Amino acid sequence: MIRPRDDVALMEGYHSPQLDVSVRLNTNEAPDAPPESFTAALADAVRDIEWNRYPDRAAGRLRAAIGVLHGVGPEQVFVANGSNEVLQTVLLTFGGPGRTAAVWEPTYALHSHIARLTGTGVVVGERGADFSTDLGEVERVVRDARPSVAFLCSPNNPTGVVDPPDTVRATLGMVEAVDGLLVVDEAYGQFAPWSAIDLLAEETPLVVSRTFSKTWSMAAARLGYLLGPSWVVAELDKVVLPYHLDAFKQMAGVLALEHVDDMNARVARLVEERGRLVARLSSLDVDVWPSGANFVLFRPRAIGGREVWQRLVDRSVLVRDCSSWPRLEGCLRVTIGTIDEDDSFLSALEEALR
Ligand SMILES: *Cc1c(COP(=O)(O)O)cnc(C)c1O
Repeated sequence: MIRPRDDVALMEGYHSPQLDVSVRLNTNEAPDAPPESFTAALADAVRDIEWNRYPDRAAGRLRAAIGVLHGVGPEQVFVANGSNEVLQTVLLTFGGPGRTAAVWEPTYALHSHIARLTGTGVVVGERGADFSTDLGEVERVVRDARPSVAFLCSPNNPTGVVDPPDTVRATLGMVEAVDGLLVVDEAYGQFAPWSAIDLLAEETPLVVSRTFSKTWSMAAARLGYLLGPSWVVAELDKVVLPYHLDAFKQMAGVLALEHVDDMNARVARLVEERGRLVARLSSLDVDVWPSGANFVLFRPRAIGGREVWQRLVDRSVLVRDCSSWPRLEGCLRVTIGTIDEDDSFLSALEEALR
């Protein structure tokens, strides 16, 4: 009987358990629906789609609109079905058998998972004790493994730590010196004080990936993108499947970008709410890590993380249980929700910690 590839047979799939609870703060989605005016405009636009035709293969309008948002040309924008597909396309193009991708753990599990799926070898470095990127460790890994693709994640998931500009610049220099490509995953970039987009240049092997899933209240749309040198984007365009972006999604992206002010206001609200949540958490018997994202990592001091997670579920609050993940023993991650959701979480947590 047919069997999967040996490496696939040994893999575990990616799991993000969903439970039927009233407060879901486990997957870093935006707590609110997109603006009403966006949903209405999209509903109108759907009628005008030429459903019998293939969509615009180059997603021209969407790329141009994303380019305008970030002050780059459309030829520096690659768009795909979620930033996970962006990362997969990067690895299919610049990784693959005989090549290596570097990650520094703990970080987003899909970087190494997608690398393995594409047949790319994975080399793992460590972050510092406070989860910051340790440049000595970056140098060791890059020198030894000479990775084709190196991943930073800033703000990092699941820790929330933001890499400062000097760290990204120094990492970029090391990766460039071994003819590699540095990918900065900025799925939470809008929540952070700075962006590696500022470092992009046509001669520099740096790309920055972003997504509509978190900030834009559009996880359901599956839309992500990458900004980078035009020669990188041209290679990605060769690799991704033809017509991978359907007409509806392209439309949704273009219309969403007409609501930038609204989205920025939401981000500002979430950042403010993050401050309130962190302050409240800091008064409880938990360790809390400073976050530049729309989630916060914390660790109960006196009771095991798994036990606290279960007690929260018993109170109909779901957070991400990271307590059994390597390097994150006992940790839980909570997404910033609405004020009401966060209050429910906080009172459930106070009870759970008793
Ligand atoms: C959520 C997340 C993504 C995936 O985003 P999609 O665009 O929904 O595929 C990518 N990177 C990180 C770090 C994330 O947390």
